[in-house]
Amino acid sequence: MRQIRLVSRPTGFPTAANFELVTSPPLDLSPGTALVENLWLSVDPYMRQAMDSDEWWALGAPGEGRALGRVVQSLTPAYGIGDIVFHTQGWRTHAVVTPSASRLIEVEPGVPLSAHLGILGGTGLSAYAGLKRVLKLQPGETLFVSAAAGGVGTAAARIARLLGAGRIIGSTGSAEKAKWLVSEVGFDAALNYRDGSLVEQLAAEAPDGIDAYLDNVGGEHLAAAIDVLKPRGRIAWCGAVSTYNGDGVVAPRNLYDVVGKELRLEGFLVRNHLDLRPELIEFLTPHLQSGAVVSDETVVDGFSQTVEAFLAMLRGENTGKMLVQLAA
Ligand code: NAP
Repeated sequence: MRQIRLVSRPTGFPTAANFELVTSPPLDLSPGTALVENLWLSVDPYMRQAMDSDEWWALGAPGEGRALGRVVQSLTPAYGIGDIVFHTQGWRTHAVVTPSASRLIEVEPGVPLSAHLGILGGTGLSAYAGLKRVLKLQPGETLFVSAAAGGVGTAAARIARLLGAGRIIGSTGSAEKAKWLVSEVGFDAALNYRDGSLVEQLAAEAPDGIDAYLDNVGGEHLAAAIDVLKPRGRIAWCGAVSTYNGDGVVAPRNLYDVVGKELRLEGFLVRNHLDLRPELIEFLTPHLQSGAVVSDETVVDGFSQTVEAFLAMLRGENTGKMLVQLAA
């Protein structure tokens, strides 16, 4: 078994030196548990926040993180050999799981397994909860999504289209990714936030204003959305990735315009919307099977590349959900 441990707390942008890859003796099973060989690992922005916290990610330990693995030994009637299991034991090649702290994945034909860490997993569920439950997106409405080329952002666009959204506008960090969002993902327009004034670009793409904003970035993105939202517009605040490395300002300069424009700004945590997961899977599975929807992802091969995949995601080198594949 190999695992990746945090050995020092990053200051600013993390580096490979903040981590170590450790080989450990084989894991022992006790009654009621199963041994899982991991196939897919997730690398996520919240892990950067976790690295700042003793409670969230202790030094010398692997962190919490979503993974999919195959059962290779079982001492529980809940899991048979070969079952695919979701768990949250993070960056390691193997894990001992209990049925209460893991979940059996129903593998549907025509649906890639990795989608259960992408559009069908916590990533897609964040987009779905944000659009359906927080924004209560209505057919025909104009939607703005930031970090649009990432996991949550691409899932949001694909789901919003199925929900009947009108114009969908995204923002991302390069012209190439902006082009991809329109040609491949189904955005009607995409802005490069590194290319001039964000608020001017957004206003030009939404001359009548936006109805709803799914915020993954915070700071200047949130400020631009507040400027361009229609009166009584809604914001679902999902994340603030522009601030996780300790730079950037979370609160927007124009926060008080929320009052003047009677906007609704609501933060949410996906872990409090897990009840929506069966609905999301039932809703999306036929679209994934028909090919009408894809789970956008960037796949990095090999466990030893996990830290680099994480850093590349923070640098914006992913399109769709950033995943590490350990085995077929
Ligand atoms: P992701 O979008 O796939 O990856 C992160 C992306 O953030 C990068 O690809 C990069 O793309 C962008 N980025 C990095 N630094 C940035 C900066 N300074 N300004 C603007 N964009 C920057 O990650 P994800 O997993 O889908 O998560 C997206 C957001 O959702 C994060 O804020 C995350 O914390 C949040 N989230 C929240 C919940 C919840 O429960 N509330 C659950 C899941 C995710 P560019 O090339 O476009 O810069």
